[in-house]
Amino acid sequence: MDALLRTRLDMLKEAGLHRRLTACGEADEARDEGSSPLMLASNDYLGLTRHPAVRRAAADAAMRLGGGAGGSRLTTGNHALYAALEEELAAFKGTEAALVFGSGYMANIGTLGALAGGDDVIFSDELNHASIVDGCRLAKARTVVYRHCDPADLAAKLAATPCRGQRFIVTDGVFSMDGDVAPVDEIVAVAGCYGAAVMVDDAHGTGVVGPGGRGTAALFGVGGRVAVQMGTLSKALASEGGYIAGSAVLIEYLVNRARSFIFTTALAPATVAAARAALALLVGEPELTARLRDNAVFLRRALTAAGLAVGTGETPIIPVTVGEAAVAVALAADLRRAGIVVSAIRPPTVPDGSSRLRVTVSAAHTRGELARAAAEVAAAAGRLGLRKEGR
Ligand code: PMP
Repeated sequence: MDALLRTRLDMLKEAGLHRRLTACGEADEARDEGSSPLMLASNDYLGLTRHPAVRRAAADAAMRLGGGAGGSRLTTGNHALYAALEEELAAFKGTEAALVFGSGYMANIGTLGALAGGDDVIFSDELNHASIVDGCRLAKARTVVYRHCDPADLAAKLAATPCRGQRFIVTDGVFSMDGDVAPVDEIVAVAGCYGAAVMVDDAHGTGVVGPGGRGTAALFGVGGRVAVQMGTLSKALASEGGYIAGSAVLIEYLVNRARSFIFTTALAPATVAAARAALALLVGEPELTARLRDNAVFLRRALTAAGLAVGTGETPIIPVTVGEAAVAVALAADLRRAGIVVSAIRPPTVPDGSSRLRVTVSAAHTRGELARAAAEVAAAAGRLGLRKEGR
C-alpha cells in the first residue's frame, strides 16, 4: 500500500498541493517578547488565547479537576463547567439552550447528520466550510448546492426541488476563506416561504460580527428566525470546541441523536474553563469586537492603497487572491522571511485557480504592526509582479 500512497503524494506534489505540518507557535511566543515574526494567520481574533484570565482559568480547572474528562458527556465526562458554559452561551446568543461539542467540525457533522433524514433536503451554499460539506454527506438527506450568497438562486432551487420532509438551509455566517458575510436576513425571508429551517455556522462570526460579537444572525436582527446557530470556541473564544445554540427541544434532540456528541470523550476541564473565561471577557468588554473591526478596516484599506485587490468588508479575514497554488506558497514563504506569518490557502480548501494568502487580523494588533504587515505584503507581492500597475 505504501507504494500506492507514495504515488498519490507525488501527484499532489506535482500539482503544488502537497502539505506539510510546520510548527507555528514560535510566532506567538516571539510576539509575547515584543519582537517579530508577526502573526497574521491566526483565528484568535480577539487575541484572548494568551490573556491572563484565560490562562489562569485553564490552569485552575486543570489543577482542580485534572487533565482529561475521562468519559463521554453521557457517561462520566460531564463536569459542572459544561452546564455553566452552555448557560452562558445560550444567554450570549439569546437562545433557550446551547450544547457544546468537541470541536466546531464535530458540531457541524453531528448536527446535520442528526437533523436531516432521508425525506429531507439540505440547501447548502457552494462555499460552505468542509465540515458542513461533510455533515451533508453524513446526513441521509439529499443536498442541493446553491450559488454563493445568492438568495435568488436559493429560492429558485427551493422552488424546483420536491421535498417530502423538512427543508434545511445551511450557510457559513462569515465565510472562512473570503471573509464575506452571508445575507442571512434575505436567506431567512426565502426560508420562510418554504417552511425551511435555517442553520448558520458562526465559527468566524462569534465574537466578530453583530452587536457585542453575537454573530451573524444578531447582525441582521434575525436571531429568532435562525433555528440552528452553530459556533466554535476555537477562534475568538480562545479555546477549542464547538457549540449549537437554539431551542431547548433542539438541544435535547441533539443530546440524543448527534453521534459526534454521543460517541466521543468530553472536552478537558481546562478547555471548557478557558472558553468560559474568554466569553466572560467578550461579554464584559464589547469594545474588543469594535477594536477588531477597526483593525480589519484599517488593514484592508492599507492593502488596497498598496494596490492589492482585497475587496471590501469589515471582517478580519482578508483574502489576497493570487490564482496559482505555487504563487501563493511562494508569497507566504517570502513574507515568512520578512517576519510576517500568513497562510497560503490552496485547493481543495478553495476552488482551483483561487489560491490566496489568507491574512487575518486580531484585536490585539497595533496600528504599527498592521501598517508594517501591509507594507511587507505589498513589497512581497511587488517582487512577484502581483500588484496593479502604477502603484
Ligand atoms: N466552520 C467553519 C466555517 C470553520 O472555518 C471551521 C474551522 N476552520 C469550522 C467550522 C470547524 O471548527 P473547529 O476548528 O472548531 O473544528
